[in-house]
Amino acid sequence: MKWHEMEIQEAAASVKTDRDTGLSDSEVQSRYSKFGYNELEEAKKTSALLLFLGQFKDFMVLVLFGATIISAFLGEYIDAVAIIAIVLLNGVLGFLQERRAERSLEALKQLSAPQVSALREGEWVRIPSRGLVPGDIVKFTAGDRIGADVRLLSVKSLEIEESALTGESLPVQKTCGALKVQEAGLGDLTNMAFMGTLVTRGSGTGMVVATGMKTAMGQIADLLQSAGTLDTPLQKRLEQLGKILIVVALLLTALVVGVGVIQGHSVYAMFLAGVSLAVAAIPEGLPAIVTVALALGVQRMIRQKSIVRKLPAVETLGCASVICSDKTGTMTQNKMTVTDIWSEGRQWKVTGTGLDLSGAFTFRDEPVLPKNEKALQQLLTFGMLCNTAHLIDKEEEKRIDGDPTEGALLIAAMKAGITREGLEKKFTIIEEFPFDSSRKRMSVIAEDTAGKRFVVTKGAPDVLLSLSRHVLWENRQQHMASSHEQRIKESIESMASKALRTIAIAYKPLHGSHKISQEEAERDLVFLGLQGMIDPPRPEVKQAIKECRAAGIKTVMITGDHVITARAIARQLDLLPQNGKVMEGSELNRLSDEELEQIADDVYVFARVSPEHKLKIVKALQKRGHIVAMTGDGVNDAPAIKAADIGIAMGITGTDVAKEASALVLADDNFATIKSAIKEGRNIYENIRKFIRYLLASNVGEILVMLFAMLLALPLPLVPIQILWVNLVTDGLPAMALGLDQPEGNLMNRKPRHPKEGVFARKLGWKVISRGFLIGGATLGAFLFIYSRDPENLAYAQTVAFSTLVMAQLIHVFDCRSEKSIFDRNPFENMYLVWAVISSVILMLAVIYYPPLQPIFKTVPIVLRDWVLILGMASLPTFLLAGSLLSAKGKKA
Ligand code: ATP
Repeated sequence: MKWHEMEIQEAAASVKTDRDTGLSDSEVQSRYSKFGYNELEEAKKTSALLLFLGQFKDFMVLVLFGATIISAFLGEYIDAVAIIAIVLLNGVLGFLQERRAERSLEALKQLSAPQVSALREGEWVRIPSRGLVPGDIVKFTAGDRIGADVRLLSVKSLEIEESALTGESLPVQKTCGALKVQEAGLGDLTNMAFMGTLVTRGSGTGMVVATGMKTAMGQIADLLQSAGTLDTPLQKRLEQLGKILIVVALLLTALVVGVGVIQGHSVYAMFLAGVSLAVAAIPEGLPAIVTVALALGVQRMIRQKSIVRKLPAVETLGCASVICSDKTGTMTQNKMTVTDIWSEGRQWKVTGTGLDLSGAFTFRDEPVLPKNEKALQQLLTFGMLCNTAHLIDKEEEKRIDGDPTEGALLIAAMKAGITREGLEKKFTIIEEFPFDSSRKRMSVIAEDTAGKRFVVTKGAPDVLLSLSRHVLWENRQQHMASSHEQRIKESIESMASKALRTIAIAYKPLHGSHKISQEEAERDLVFLGLQGMIDPPRPEVKQAIKECRAAGIKTVMITGDHVITARAIARQLDLLPQNGKVMEGSELNRLSDEELEQIADDVYVFARVSPEHKLKIVKALQKRGHIVAMTGDGVNDAPAIKAADIGIAMGITGTDVAKEASALVLADDNFATIKSAIKEGRNIYENIRKFIRYLLASNVGEILVMLFAMLLALPLPLVPIQILWVNLVTDGLPAMALGLDQPEGNLMNRKPRHPKEGVFARKLGWKVISRGFLIGGATLGAFLFIYSRDPENLAYAQTVAFSTLVMAQLIHVFDCRSEKSIFDRNPFENMYLVWAVISSVILMLAVIYYPPLQPIFKTVPIVLRDWVLILGMASLPTFLLAGSLLSAKGKKA
C-alpha cells in the first residue's frame, strides 16, 4: 500500500515510530546507517589533483617550462632545476589559495543549510535537515521548506506550494486523512508533504517516510543540480582586466626582448629573461587572491554574526546607501512584556518583566485580583486561548517557543493564575486561522464543555476595531457607539505613545456547530479590550544608526506596528530627524509608484505596512538611485528581499523562504549587525584595492627596470631566476597580508561607494603607474651606480638591483595600506603584514648570503656600506610620495 492510502496508525507502524515521542537517539543512529543522510547527491567537485594541475595551464608558465627544458639541454642544469622548483612552489601556493577559497565557500553553504524541527526522545529539537531519517516526526509553519517526504499527521489551515515538483504555482490545501485515489499525481496527494516544497500558510506535523534520493525530489534531482558559485562583479571585472594586463605585459616583455636583442644580447638570454618577466608580470594570481580576500572577509563577518549567502553581496554591502529595517526584533529586543491592559474604559497595570511569572495587577495603583475583575479575567483568558506560544520552563533554559508577542500574552495570563492545562480542560480549539502580517490578526474557534462555540480574534487594534460591531462595556455587550470608538482609539493612542505594542482582543458567540469560513468568523465581533506590551529597543542600535548616518547611509524603519508606537520607538533610537516623515500603509496604498518615488527620500518610518508594501518601497528607493538593503523574515517578505540590492533575512525568526531569497542572514537578528557587515563589506573592497595597487605597481616596476636597462644598452639588471623569486616571495605573502588589513579610521565616515565605480577609480591607476615608475627607476639607479663603479662585477650590481627592487616593494606595501600616506597608519596594526615582510627580508638575505643559494640565484654578498644605497633608493619613492602629499596639503592650506 502507498503512504497516502494508509491511515495514520498504519503509516506510523510501518515506519516504526511513535507520534508522541518521535524516535530515540539510538534508533536515529541505526537509521543513519541504514538509510544514510537526508541529502541529494551533488555534482562531482573538481578533484584536488585537477585543481593543482590547473595551476600550470597558464600559457606563459608552459612556455617557461619549455624554456627551462631548452636551458637544461644547453647545460644550464642549476638554472633549469631552480626555475622548475620556483614554478612548482608558485603552483602549490596558488593551489592552496584556491582550495582555501573553495573550502570557505563550502563552509558557508553548510552554515546556511536549512534547519527543521523534529521530535526526538519526546522533545522538539532543531536539527539540520540532512539529519532527518524515516520515522522522524516533524513540524512546520508558514515559511518553512519541507525537509523530507512526509505523511501528514495534523494540519492547521496548512497550504503548501509544490511548484518545484508539480509546476503548479497555486498552493495546495493539505489534509491528513487516508486518501483513496488511484493513479494519483503528486499534486493530488493532499495528505503528503514533499521535500523542497514550501509552506505558504498555516502549520502542521507529519512523519518522515522518505529521505534523500528516495524522496520525490530525489527522483528528479538530476534536473536540479545547482548552478556554480556566483562570481562577484569585481571578480568579473578583474577577470577582464587580467586579460588586458596579460596582453600589456606580453607586449612590454616583447619590447624588452626586442630591444635587448637589438642591443646585442644573446637571443637565448633574452628569451629566458623575457619569459620569466612575463610570468612575473602577469598577475595570474589576482582572481585567486580576490577570492581569498572575499572568503576571509566572509569568515570575519561570520564571527560578527552575519552570514553571507551570496558572495556578490559582500561588494554590494560597501555601496549600500539605505537600510530598510524591520522594527520588531531587529531594532527592538523582541522581549515583550505586557504592562498595560485596557477594557471597558478601565486601565490596569501589570508588573514584572520578561518570562518571570511573579507579577501583580493594579488598578489606579491599588492591587487587584484579576479573578475579581471579570473583563480583565476574560481578556487574559482569551489572550491565552487564541495563542500558539508555549513556555518552555526547564532548569537549563526558560524560553518562549513561538511568537514573542503571543508569549507576552501567555505570561500575562499566567501571572493571573490562568494555565494552559486549565484552559484545555474547559475549551477545545476547533479551528485556527493563523496570524499573518498582511491580515494582522489571528482567530480561533473554540468550544466549551457545554458544546457552545465562539470565535476569539486577536490582532492590531485598528484592524479589530473595524471588524467589531459591538463592545463589552459595563459587563454587557453593547452596540459600538461612536463614543465607545472614540474612547478605544484614545486608549490605543495613549498606549502607543508610550512606545507600547498593542494587541486588541475581540470575540463572538457562534450558533450551531457548522463549519464557517475565516471571513464569516471574523465579522461583527465584540470588542473586548487591549493589551499593551513593551519591547525595549536594543541598546546598541542607536549608536549603529548614528554610525550609518556618518557613513552616508540612511536608516528607514518599516513596521507592521501602529504608527504612534513606531514613531515613539524611532524617536528613542534617534532615527527620525526633525523634518523626517512618517508614513502609514494606508497612505502608501493611495500613492502611485511615481508619487512615492518623489517623497521616498524624506520618509524615515513606514508604519502599519504589509509585507507587500516593502516591494513598493524598495523600488521607489532604487529609482531614486539608492542601493537598498532590506530586511525581512516572513514568506511575504521574500519578493522585497529578492528585489533589494542586498536582501537580508533574520537568522532566528526568519523563515526558510526569506533566508533563501536573501543574500545575507543575520545570525542574531540584530540591526547593529547590518552596520558591521557594511563596514566589513567596505573594508574587504578596500583591501582588494590595496593589494591590486601593490601587485600592479610592483609588476610595473619589474618590467620598467628591464625595459629602461635595455633602452640604455645596459646588461640585464636582473637574472631570470631573481625575477621569478620576486614574483614568488615579494608578490606572495605581503599581498595576502594586505587582504587581512584593518580598515582605515575614516572608513565609516565616507560616502558609500558608487556601485559602478571601476577598479582604478579614486586615482588608483595613477598611483600604480607613478609608483611603478619610481620603483623601476630606483632599482635601475642603484644598478647603474654600482655597475658604473665596477663594470667587471656584473653579478654584484645585479644583486644590488635585486635587493633594491625587493626592498622598494616591501616598503611600498605599507604605502598601500592608506589612501593618503604611509605615515597615516601604524604599521604594527597589521602584524600579518609585518611578519610577511620580515620573512620576505629573511628569505632575501638567505638568497644573498647563504653560500649554497648564491650560485642558484647568481648572487654575491653585498658589503654593508652598499646597503645604505639600497635602502636609500628603495625608500626614495615613499619619501617623494609623502613629500608631494605634504606640499599639496601646504598649497591647499
Ligand atoms: P515588524 O514589521 O517591525 O517586525 P511587527 O512585528 O509589528 O513589525 P507584524 O508582525 O506584521 O509586524 O505585526 C503587525 C501587527 O499585527 C502588530 O502590530 C500587532 O498588532 C499584530 N500582531 C502581531 N503579532 C500578532 C499575533 N501573533 N497575533 C495577532 N496579532 C498580532
